[in-house]
Amino acid sequence: MEGKLENLNNFESIKTILSKKIEIAKLHALLLEEVKEIEKKINDLENLYFNGKVPEEKFKEEISQLYFEHNRAGLVILGTLPEFHEALKMCDVNDKIINEVLSHENAHSSMAEQLEVENNYKIRFVKLQDGRIAFIPSVEYGYPPNATPEQKQEISRKITNAPEILSHRDKQRLDIEIPKGEPDIFG
Ligand SMILES: [Zn+2]
Repeated sequence: MEGKLENLNNFESIKTILSKKIEIAKLHALLLEEVKEIEKKINDLENLYFNGKVPEEKFKEEISQLYFEHNRAGLVILGTLPEFHEALKMCDVNDKIINEVLSHENAHSSMAEQLEVENNYKIRFVKLQDGRIAFIPSVEYGYPPNATPEQKQEISRKITNAPEILSHRDKQRLDIEIPKGEPDIFG
């Protein structure tokens, strides 16, 4: 009985910490435009590197600088699907959206697991022009240290392409044209 109570308290305290993390991330959210600009730079640099147009050392240096900028604020990282689920429940969206986000991101993550690549769930909070805060869920992943640019490109494409329905961010990463007026989905 005592043990059970303790576990319950642990769960409650984890939820409290999580909601504090979300509060801080929201408070320091970067502007959506800035986030998009950094993501475009990351995509462009990766594409150059994948095509052998940027040497390894230069790539490593520049990509870590970009990720430093990208991840400096507004971000909550979740190690597991249940934690990701709890965090989404704190994002003021309905169950239908939560379930869509979970299944979309889980498809990215499952592919990463299948390829034996380290990965985490992320929720990024961004500030819109009118001051409202929006969130962007995603899966971040690393590459095996000894992978060649071609192998990294293959990993990136497989993980990005894993969900049945791709988001606009996924399509941009895969260089797939987005039809005019097509509604975007989360992730
Ligand atoms: Zn996606």
